[in-house]
Amino acid sequence: MRNEHATTICLEHQSAETQATPHGTFCPRCKQRLYTNPPQGNLMSFWESQPVAYTLEREPCFAYSLLWENFRIRSLHLPEVSTADEPATQLKSHS
Ligand SMILES: [Zn+2]
Repeated sequence: MRNEHATTICLEHQSAETQATPHGTFCPRCKQRLYTNPPQGNLMSFWESQPVAYTLEREPCFAYSLLWENFRIRSLHLPEVSTADEPATQLKSHS
């Protein structure tokens, strides 16, 4: 079960966001920050208007921001990737 399908990447820590929290799914370090030093103020969340990255297929990747007064989490959302080129597990008989 180590190959979890992470579709968001923490831009701050360049780490896959796999940790569930009350605010969403974040990277381990953001989760730790949330729990050990809860951010203050109102929470705003919004999509950033400009793409922050592009895939190899030149598809834009947008970031979603969660913004507190003193803390910000930016999640890079990867576009839906087709798993067509991912070779299916094939059973090979060793004869
Ligand atoms: Zn993070």
